[in-house]
Amino acid sequence: MVLSSHHPETLAVHAGFRTDPGSHGVTVPIHQTTSYQFDSTEHAANLFALKDLGNIYTRMMNPTWDVFERRVAALDGGAAALALASGQAASTYCVLNLCKAGDNIVTSTDLYGGTWNLFANTLRQMGIEARFVDPTDPEAFRRAVDDRTRLFYAETLPNPKLNVFPIAEVAAIGRELGIPLIMDNTAAPVLCRPLDHGAAVVMYSATKYLGGHGTSIGGVVVDGGTFDWEAWGERFPTLNQPDDSYHGAVWSQAAKPLGPVAFLLRMRVVLLRDIGAALSPFNAFQIIQGLETLPLRMRQHCENATIVSRFLRDHPKAARVIHPSLQDGEARRRADSVLKGGYGALVGFEIDGGADAGRRFIEALKMIYHVANIGDARTLAIHPATTTHSQLSPEDQLASGVSPGYVRLSIGIEHPDDIIADLSQALETS
Ligand SMILES: *Cc1c(COP(=O)(O)O)cnc(C)c1O
Repeated sequence: MVLSSHHPETLAVHAGFRTDPGSHGVTVPIHQTTSYQFDSTEHAANLFALKDLGNIYTRMMNPTWDVFERRVAALDGGAAALALASGQAASTYCVLNLCKAGDNIVTSTDLYGGTWNLFANTLRQMGIEARFVDPTDPEAFRRAVDDRTRLFYAETLPNPKLNVFPIAEVAAIGRELGIPLIMDNTAAPVLCRPLDHGAAVVMYSATKYLGGHGTSIGGVVVDGGTFDWEAWGERFPTLNQPDDSYHGAVWSQAAKPLGPVAFLLRMRVVLLRDIGAALSPFNAFQIIQGLETLPLRMRQHCENATIVSRFLRDHPKAARVIHPSLQDGEARRRADSVLKGGYGALVGFEIDGGADAGRRFIEALKMIYHVANIGDARTLAIHPATTTHSQLSPEDQLASGVSPGYVRLSIGIEHPDDIIADLSQALETS
């Protein structure tokens, strides 16, 4: 039996699954099936009418996802979770679950590039406006709100700046105005539980630390179950008004027998039904394997990153090393109030010699991989000015924290001495 009072290390191994009822196997089976046999015509009708809960079709639900969903919900202290095909699908669904054309969201400027493009271009083309505000000023969120604002959006530990987001402050403003804060916690699982700080919903790219081994793209959304969608009735028509696509169901009421999960229920039965960013059962299995060691890996990732940050800080060829462990003042205070047990595994630094030195450094790495990813067990490096940020103008690169000599590291779980040895020889060569 697993209790919510169990520690993250225990929940990561046990939550959501005991044994397979058929085989008595102790590991989670991969339910590689598209559909599920109905017991009777009445059973089928009840499932479609949501009178009974059960499996219909893997575009909306799957027993392997179910374990992944329960385990992440337990780790984050949420009411329920929903597995999706990618982190991008998760952020898209969070917005589409509350917004229609003509609505707006207020979002931090410090975002993953994919999320930035989604908000600034694709959603704008669909008539949903993203209002970008400075995350260091929580009151900027309040000032950007109007009566068509449906949500606040931010990342816990956004790179490259690595300034931890003031979750409690912005969540409190949102609760006052009836606006849920949705947190992308991809870079800080286990270190931060955004729901504990007042966020309404949490999402992850499971591709990164949750899976943890660079094998599978996936995403997940966790519903905190604490936001009162009905108390702010008119702000949330997608949840509080009859849904013509589902016999006039009102999701805030239809969810009641299931618990405080209206947000996730609509996401599953409407957005997955209609847009279908369904996770492969095999990827759900891979991510479950990753989850078992997530708290253990995060500890090593963070410890290594702090050691590497100190090495770089003291190296003559590295300047402006960025890691929350090296911050002071307000940024450090926020990091300490939000992150527990480590400062994350992303480390940035400026290499002496600008873009050319950055390129030479990347080419000289022997063990560390040169890839556009984070959160792998392996240490990864990238030179954003020539890759992830190369489409931006030099001014926009600087505004987003990327200077010509900036290098981003995602520190892995190797022995820190070996990571440092590779960095050291590459810095000498560059
Ligand atoms: C990678 C990433 C995403 C997008 O996730 P995918 O699984 O690649 O679609 C979103 N947010 C953050 C912070 C990420 O690092």
